[in-house]
Amino acid sequence: MTSEISSVSDSPTLTEHVPQRDQESRELMRQALLREPRHIELVTRPVPAPGPGEVVLRVRAALTCGTDLKTYRRGHPKVPFGPFGHECAGDVVATGRGVRRVREGDAVVPTPTASCGECPSCRAGRENLCERQFEGIVLGAYADYLLISEKVAASNLLRKPSTLTYIEAAFLEPLSCVIHAWDRLRSIPVEQVAVVGLGGIGLLHVRVAKALGARVIAVGRRAERLTLAKQLGADAVVDTDHDEVSAGLREVSGGLGPDVIIECTGSPHMWVEVAGWARRGGRVLLFAGLAAGAQVAFDATRLHYDEVDIVNSFHYRPSDVLEAHRLLATGQIDVRPIISDVRDLTSIVDVFASLDRGNGVKYAILPEATGWA
Ligand SMILES: [Zn+2]
Ligand SMILES: [Zn+2]
Repeated sequence: MTSEISSVSDSPTLTEHVPQRDQESRELMRQALLREPRHIELVTRPVPAPGPGEVVLRVRAALTCGTDLKTYRRGHPKVPFGPFGHECAGDVVATGRGVRRVREGDAVVPTPTASCGECPSCRAGRENLCERQFEGIVLGAYADYLLISEKVAASNLLRKPSTLTYIEAAFLEPLSCVIHAWDRLRSIPVEQVAVVGLGGIGLLHVRVAKALGARVIAVGRRAERLTLAKQLGADAVVDTDHDEVSAGLREVSGGLGPDVIIECTGSPHMWVEVAGWARRGGRVLLFAGLAAGAQVAFDATRLHYDEVDIVNSFHYRPSDVLEAHRLLATGQIDVRPIISDVRDLTSIVDVFASLDRGNGVKYAILPEATGWA
C-alpha cells in the first residue's frame, strides 16, 4: 500500500484508490440504529474488527438516558442518527495493534467521548469544552458488540470494578456529568439544594447531594418519581402539579429557599422559572441543555439586585470520570434504584416508545439476559 501511495503521490484523489482496512469480521451481531426521530431498527451486521488502537467489546449492559430520549424525539446537535446508545459496560473481546491498557477478557466501562489533551481548553484544565471531544464518539451500545474508538480506548476505557454489576458500572458517564456539575458548585458550600426534574440525571443529583452531606429537596411532577426521590434520600419533595412551587420551596427549606437549585428538565420555561425560585444570593445550576439556538430571558432584577448567580455545566473532564468511577467502586453512590427495568435487546423499540410516553426513568438493555447482570 505504501508503494502505491508514493507512485501516485501527485493525485488529489489518492485516498479513493487506497483500499480501506478490513473493519469487519464475518461473525454477525445485532445493533439498534436510530434512523430518524421515533424510528429505531434492530439490524444484523458484521461484528467490527478493531483497527490500530481500537477495542471491541461484547456489550453486557447498556442504559437508556435523557440524551437518547431527546435524540429519539427530535435529533441532537452532538449525536448523529445511526448506531444508538452510549452508556454501557462489557467485556473486551478483541484489541487492535498498539492497545496496552486492556486485554481480551477484561471487564470494562467506557465513556462515549474523550478530550484531545492538546487544545487550549484541554491545556487550561477545562477538557469538557474540548473542541475535538466529539471526534471518535462511541455510539451503538444497544448491540451485541461495540467498537471503541482509538481516542476513547486510549483514555476513557476503565476497568469495571469487580464489586459492581455491568448495569451499575454503565452509570459511569451520566455520573461523570453530575460530578462535573458539583465541581462547578464547589467554591461555596451547599447546605440545601433543590433538584428540579426527576429523570435519571435528577435522581443521580439527589444521590450525589446526599453523599456530599447536603439537605435535598426533590422537585417533580409524577408521584412515582417523587416517591423514588425519597427512597434515594431526598429530605423533602415539592410536587409541581399540586404545590405552589416557590412558596413550597421556601416552606420546606426553612423560610428562604435552598442555596442552590439544579435544573434537570431541559425546558426553556423551567430555566426561567428556577431563577425565580432561587433565594436572594442563591445559585441556579443549569444542568440540562436546550435545543440549539434556544433563547431565554431572565428577570434582570433577580439576577442583579438579588445576586442570583447562574452556573452552567456541560459534559465531563477526565478528572470527573475518575471521581465518578471511584464513587461507584466504593459503593458511595448506589444507583440500583434508578433502574426502572431490565430488558432484552429485542425490546429496544418498545422501551423507547414507553419512555416517550413518560413511563419509566432509565432502563437497562441487555443483549440476552432479563435479570441483573
Ligand atoms: Zn448519557
Ligand atoms: Zn482538547
